[in-house]
Amino acid sequence: MAEVTIRQFADDVKIPIGRLLAQLGDAGLSAKRADDKISETEKRRLLSHMRKVHGKDTDKSVNQSPNKITLKRKVVSELKVPNSQGRAKTVQVEVRKKRTYVKKHREPVNKEPVAQRKVEKEPDRQQRRPEGTPANATEQKARRERNSRDTGRGRRSPKTEAEKQQQPNRGAVRTNRPDSDNKSGASAVRNKNSETTEKSSERTTTVKDSAATQKPRKRYTNDAKRPGEAVRQAPKHRRGVNEKKSGEERPKEGENPARKRRRRRRKKETDTGYSGTKNQTAKRQEEEQKKPKNKQKRAPEKPQHGAFSRPTSPIVREVSLPESLTVMELAQKMSVKSAVLIKTMMKMGTMVTINQRIDQETAAIIVEEMGHTPKLLQENAIESGLIQTGQQIGERVPRAPVVTIMGHVDHGKTSLLDYIRRTKVADGEAGGITQHIGAYHVDTPKGTVSFLDTPGHAAFTAMRARGAKVTDIVVLVVAADDGVMPQTNEAIQHAKAAEVPLLVAINKIDKPEADPERVKQELVAKEVVPEDWGGDTMFVQVSAKTGEGIDELLDSILLQAEVLELTTVAEGTATGVIVESRLDKGRGAVASLLVQSGQLKKGDILLAGKEYGRVRAMLDETGKHIKEAGPSIPVEVLGLSGVPSAGDEAIVVSDERKAREIALFRQGKYREVRLARQQAINLENMFSQFQTGQINTLNIVLKADVDGSVEALREALVKLSNDEVKVKIVASGVGGISESDVNLAVASNAILMGFNVRANVNAKNLIDEEKIDLHYYSVIYEAIDEVKKALSGMLAPEIREEIIGLAEVREVFRSPKFGLVAGCLVIDGLVKRHSPIRVLRDNVVIFEGELDSLRRFKDDALEVKAGIECGIGVKNYSDVKVNDQIEIYEKRTIARTI
Ligand code: GDP
Repeated sequence: MAEVTIRQFADDVKIPIGRLLAQLGDAGLSAKRADDKISETEKRRLLSHMRKVHGKDTDKSVNQSPNKITLKRKVVSELKVPNSQGRAKTVQVEVRKKRTYVKKHREPVNKEPVAQRKVEKEPDRQQRRPEGTPANATEQKARRERNSRDTGRGRRSPKTEAEKQQQPNRGAVRTNRPDSDNKSGASAVRNKNSETTEKSSERTTTVKDSAATQKPRKRYTNDAKRPGEAVRQAPKHRRGVNEKKSGEERPKEGENPARKRRRRRRKKETDTGYSGTKNQTAKRQEEEQKKPKNKQKRAPEKPQHGAFSRPTSPIVREVSLPESLTVMELAQKMSVKSAVLIKTMMKMGTMVTINQRIDQETAAIIVEEMGHTPKLLQENAIESGLIQTGQQIGERVPRAPVVTIMGHVDHGKTSLLDYIRRTKVADGEAGGITQHIGAYHVDTPKGTVSFLDTPGHAAFTAMRARGAKVTDIVVLVVAADDGVMPQTNEAIQHAKAAEVPLLVAINKIDKPEADPERVKQELVAKEVVPEDWGGDTMFVQVSAKTGEGIDELLDSILLQAEVLELTTVAEGTATGVIVESRLDKGRGAVASLLVQSGQLKKGDILLAGKEYGRVRAMLDETGKHIKEAGPSIPVEVLGLSGVPSAGDEAIVVSDERKAREIALFRQGKYREVRLARQQAINLENMFSQFQTGQINTLNIVLKADVDGSVEALREALVKLSNDEVKVKIVASGVGGISESDVNLAVASNAILMGFNVRANVNAKNLIDEEKIDLHYYSVIYEAIDEVKKALSGMLAPEIREEIIGLAEVREVFRSPKFGLVAGCLVIDGLVKRHSPIRVLRDNVVIFEGELDSLRRFKDDALEVKAGIECGIGVKNYSDVKVNDQIEIYEKRTIARTI
């Protein structure tokens, strides 16, 4: 744009030339006369000057934001609404109110919080507006006047004619108010509703002016009283289309006539002199017109705050169901009252209490019944997931067999193990005392054999009772000079119950009185037949004293292992089984672990049963620190959180957090497992378990005072077996009930029977712990009788049909509601609504089915007794005739006895 004269420029921006010259003077520009030219640079300087001046205004207005108080109020009330079950439900309704009061000088209290918010926004908007595009005439005028005052306060010289005309006879103090009024009027154009906005803006201006004129604050406050009037006084056409108040034309009551004149003059000037900014003003008006609309939109939302909107349709929830939960928990999950849930369950035919545990399946049915979606949760999902990831994938390679040595006391088990360890285990400690970690391995030229160094049946069965199958081969030690003894028998029983192959070591053959043949014969009687006699059990003659036959024994073990084709995955993360564990004073929980697959490394995170932890140290059977152990290698690990049980499975997991979660989960579940087991081996429960097809064999561990009693009882009990139920004497023996017997009973899911014998203290503790069913007898017949009873329960009950009533059809009629109805007289017994029926014609069954309806007069009946008339509708049968008979029967299950 080329240079223009000041006159042209004033014309362009639609302001009086005098005012423009004054502004140029303020901006420090040289052009003084109307015909002087103004360059583009000069125009910019003027613009930046104007912005600067405006910016100051804004700052001040921000600082002068009014004081305000916000009050909050909370009202809580209750609302009763019916829930999905039609029961009244109380809903708490909380209404929160927030009011902001703005304190103003001599102003009425403002109760419009929204308007108040606008107060704070207003200065920003003013600040954002470019100086070169004045918002409206009044505002620009106010600004211009301020400028002129700021610059010419002392000298008064730069006042132009136009200004003088505009502000005649006005002192420094009085200049404030008209400005304020105008400003307020302008704001009123923007938003007639935001009265507070106008007040605020007005005050901002006033404060500034007041500061500029150095007038006392009192004066300001007097002036500030008037802005309220300003809104009313603002010209109607400038207040926008929505403006309805006619305050501007209406002379204000008691208004000074001089002021009125001034106001009119200002209005005139505004209408003419600044009409050039119409476009801007129109835009602003449009904007402002929108705002009240928004406000109007928001307004109705206000009462909705916190209000309760009643759902129009039933809420269908996805209810996640764990494996078991209480009725109360289920009710909470469905967001219904427990009573409603119990009622629903009662309708479904189940009587439950609020704290009763129900299983997942039942819960799912109820959830569906109540219109929600059940989501079945697998509680041990993490566990099974983890164990799956722990499963070894890879090439399976042959592994060393794990051997347990069993046998009667003093037959040489310890001597045999010691001899092997002493002679075969490398780095055996001097004096024959080696690290006792419950297991060790022996390397032979033909392969490695791992021995579980826990002779005795208790340890073996204790592991088996926990579900761990650690042992691959049982070596039964029988002294050649002593033969088969009670504990030899027991060992055979244990091995057979565990279905582990047996290998017999006839020990002490160095002794002159040794008679291996006699041992063989005795063992054959126990169904352990040597290979050379046509059986499948290997017999090896050894001497733990001289070492004779030990190599042969190891060879036989390896041969047996080959037959068993024992393989495992040797790479990857380790899995194993806890052989032994104890709490060491100095080292904490110490667990002996037999690695079964993969490689166990120091630093691995191990999850063993209910315990977990990082493997801090790992020792082998000789007490040496090692860094890793492969399959069939026993190691001692330190660092577990607690003492795991022998037989617990141990796996290496990648995440300690997960390991802890599972360990805690298992700790919680342990009780449940024990409770479940308690039920499984209870003689009284056998019947119900048999009914569900869980058991058809009654396992008994029998102990008696003398061998005669054992044999007599054994025979009598086994004879009770029939085609459906079997009695199996898992183990029998002479003597008190020991821990080993209890373990065997646990492992075999058997009941314990003591005939004239009692359990020892250890066994008693274990019985209590494992909740084993123990029975003492002193009369053989009593024992037999009780088992007989248990078996009677275990026999599949007989289902018998019983006719409970007979009705004769006297009349047949059609009912529009029920179809064909037979008017009957009950001649015998009673008619039940839900019992199956038969229709007889001349004593021949012509239809079998059920009732559709049973009515007494006009009411539904559940049962009708003999001699009473009733209406019977037969389901799916419409051929009932007069004189037909309707037979009502029931199927009854009758327990059978032997
Ligand atoms: P355990 O109770 O089955 O562990 O039997 P031990 O290993 O404690 O042995 C009991 C006794 O039998 C000890 O005094 C041993 O010295 C002895 N003994 C063990 N094996 C032999 C053997 O092969 N020959 C001889 N002569 N004595 C043996």
